[in-house]
Amino acid sequence: MIKKGELVPRMILAVDFIGNPADYNTLREIALRYDLILAEDAAQGMGASYKGQKCGSFGDIAATSFFPSKPLGCYGDGGAVFTDNEAMWELLKSLRVHGKGSSKYENIRIGLNSRLDTLQAAVLLPKLKRLEEEIVRRQYLAARYDEACKGKYITPAIQEDTVSSYAQYVLLAQDKAHRDYIRKELESAGIPTLVYYPNPLHLMKVFEHNGNYFEETYENTISYAERTFALPFSAYLKEADQDRVINTLLRL
Ligand SMILES: *Cc1c(COP(=O)(O)O)cnc(C)c1O
Repeated sequence: MIKKGELVPRMILAVDFIGNPADYNTLREIALRYDLILAEDAAQGMGASYKGQKCGSFGDIAATSFFPSKPLGCYGDGGAVFTDNEAMWELLKSLRVHGKGSSKYENIRIGLNSRLDTLQAAVLLPKLKRLEEEIVRRQYLAARYDEACKGKYITPAIQEDTVSSYAQYVLLAQDKAHRDYIRKELESAGIPTLVYYPNPLHLMKVFEHNGNYFEETYENTISYAERTFALPFSAYLKEADQDRVINTLLRL
């Protein structure tokens, strides 16, 4: 078991969770105070922004995923890393191709195969062009859900000056039983829902060696995992379909 104080933090890994930019003002301050690298997981944040600055540009380094379910997805697997640090960029280009040196037949470090597949890149190029208009449409559809659900469910809290990419549109129910009931009722009406995510990170087996999780209980995390559910959502959701979701939900 690892005890408090035995681990020295090196990095903050911030997640633009469900498309909402993390609180980078606060995180940057903490990173500076404790000399930590600030990394951004922007997999769900492509197209989102804070004060006009786009997700993917907040950390010392940022990464995204082009998995099909993401705001900017391809038709298979893919991803990208963003940095404005020249040395980091050179290192990443080498790591991407098996740790190559100046020539691809000279390996200077252990790397991996992380080339973006050409066909996936071809899918991404036109989708990237449409990302902005998709984000606009997502704002419109999210506002329709907000309007219909406010007062009955906890709707997404988007901070001032922030544009969420709404990678998912999620609501919070009163408790787990309420959430599970809603999901079951929607399912029998032919409306799929998903939970992002059912298992809090700190309770996963992979972190079992952390034992008592530094004596933290992470009550908010546990409560969130029990109460959250995501409604059908994409930039291509039709109003009529959304209305059917809304009407079913409001009847419960
Ligand atoms: C999907 C996702 C990942 C993993 O992406 P892969 O393409 O499977 O590597 C990581 N972080 C977040 C926040 C994601 O949504």
